[in-house]
Amino acid sequence: MKAFYNVMGKYFARYKGFIAGTLVMNILAALFNVFSFSIILPILQILFKINNQHYELIPWGTTDWGNLIDVAKNNGYYYSQQLIETYGPATTLLLLGLILSSLTLFKTLSYFGGSAMLAPLRTGIVRDIRNAIYQKIVHLPLSFFSEERKGDIMTRITADVNEVDNSITSSLDMVVKNPIFILVYVGWLTALSWQLTLFTLLVVPLMAFGIGRIGKKLKSKSLAMQNKLSDSVSQIEETLGGLRIIKAFIAEGKMTDRFERVTNEYRDISCRVAIRQSAAHPVSEFLGTVMIVLVLWFGGWLIFNGNSPIDANLFIYYLILLYTTLQPIKDLSKAGYSIQKGLASMERINRILDAENNIREIENAYSIEGLERDIVLKNVAFSYNENREILHNINLCIKKGQTVALVGQSGSGKSTLVDLIPRYHDVCEGYIEIDGKDIRTLKIRSLRGLIGNVNQEAILFNDTIRNNIAFGKDGATQEEIEQAARIANAHDFIMEMEDGYDTMVGDRGCRLSGGQRQRISIARAILKNPPILILDEATSALDTESERLVQDALERLMSTRTTIAIAHRLSTIKHADEICVLHEGQIVERGTHEELIAKNGYYKRLHDMQQL
Ligand code: ATP
Ligand code: MG
Repeated sequence: MKAFYNVMGKYFARYKGFIAGTLVMNILAALFNVFSFSIILPILQILFKINNQHYELIPWGTTDWGNLIDVAKNNGYYYSQQLIETYGPATTLLLLGLILSSLTLFKTLSYFGGSAMLAPLRTGIVRDIRNAIYQKIVHLPLSFFSEERKGDIMTRITADVNEVDNSITSSLDMVVKNPIFILVYVGWLTALSWQLTLFTLLVVPLMAFGIGRIGKKLKSKSLAMQNKLSDSVSQIEETLGGLRIIKAFIAEGKMTDRFERVTNEYRDISCRVAIRQSAAHPVSEFLGTVMIVLVLWFGGWLIFNGNSPIDANLFIYYLILLYTTLQPIKDLSKAGYSIQKGLASMERINRILDAENNIREIENAYSIEGLERDIVLKNVAFSYNENREILHNINLCIKKGQTVALVGQSGSGKSTLVDLIPRYHDVCEGYIEIDGKDIRTLKIRSLRGLIGNVNQEAILFNDTIRNNIAFGKDGATQEEIEQAARIANAHDFIMEMEDGYDTMVGDRGCRLSGGQRQRISIARAILKNPPILILDEATSALDTESERLVQDALERLMSTRTTIAIAHRLSTIKHADEICVLHEGQIVERGTHEELIAKNGYYKRLHDMQQL
């Protein structure tokens, strides 16, 4: 219960009003329930003529609280006796029945009120958790996701949140209602006969033990279960992304086997969890009945010996009430198991929610409006993990309006280097400054606002072409979008499409060719109109013809901007102000195209190879 509160408590805070409301409603429901059962007493009386005693009215208010029950009982009998004398037993029975019905109506109305008030709470909590995860996902640094599998994260935000919904929030009703019911009932039972109730309570530890044993491993098993589920989702995700390759390598059977292995394991664990969980009801039912039998025996024994604290009539009522108490106990134990399962999912969700964001903004971070002077990288070193340093001792100065090109073999660290400037990762040593201000002292928003990106793989969203181009600029007009598309040499092919700018591009842009995707992403960067442009192989997916056109456009764009361009094809960066050759994470050569050719080193070698 404590674990439950620790994990879920913060989500409840917003819904205090509903919780208070549902508590009140349930207390009312429990009281109505107890009273409606009390009506059974005189009914039994009338039907079985158990008791021929004559009752006198004890005036209300003349007695202290301790005797209230006795007085109420006495007066109840008195009133029903009066009724029988006036209207006859049949009519009295009907009258009592009516009272019973109306009390039950009130009871069920309060029940309803209690559950209905939990609905906004339940649904709200699930929404809050989902939104919190999403927010966290968009704010976490990229490095977090290179450690995690996408399918796993998707499982957490969907299946695990569902599990929390099914198990925790749907049990809330039970968790709120049942303790109240049990307390009211036990209080009432104690008032009826504390001796019998004391005896009853002796049996409770036995029940608690039995129920607790079953629930014990439920949480860890559920955790294993959700992990397996996320394995299978990860595989689906991977498979969808790699269907082309799976078919090409005729690996359908192999992938199916791999998937079935996981689903089988998942099935085994969930089967065991389900069996364990389904033991909840029978165990509490059985132990509850044992409890009643024991009380029946004990109470009966007292009655036979003539020293019972209550009469037979009241004893039947007592047993009915005791039996009624079993239901909330059963429900509570069931809810307890459910909650164990839900807590396992919550633990997985918290892995994301509690993840630390190591790309942090300092307090009073500066805002930066534009680039005035330069971008400076000083003694920069970086590694993704401890084992291997990817970049060492990088010194670079990019003056406003200049174009600096990075070349070098695959894996030399070019993409990593340009990722450091928008702070997708933070440098491990050294610093990066924009206009003399360390980028770690800038508002991340304003830093990234300065930078336009065109990447190696053009990432588009499943939306219209128009919205994909306008992604970086709210409220862009059609003219602006078209102009950007024209500069990126994309306008013509867009107009040839069925719906023009309203064409949906498909998942990650899969309905477009690689070159088309690239041009859309160039148009997107052009429309954002940032002072700093980072081009990572921006023209790699274009044919020579469109490469020329895009190159022209980019050159026009680059002339008014500060650009860092990564290229394999040296022809595209010939005119850069400075070309840096990266080799195994170090800048080994730098200069203009002509200078580097004259140097006859790495660059010359690369250049000659491409001439071939
Ligand atoms: P290419 O020309 O092929 O794009 P690149 O110069 O852009 O290559 P990077 O992507 O910067 O190369 O990668 C540099 C090195 O960093 C590679 O050896 C790669 O294995 C490693 N690396 C890249 N991303 C990660 C990551 N998320 N975690 C760990 N290592 C990484
Ligand atoms: Mg790269």
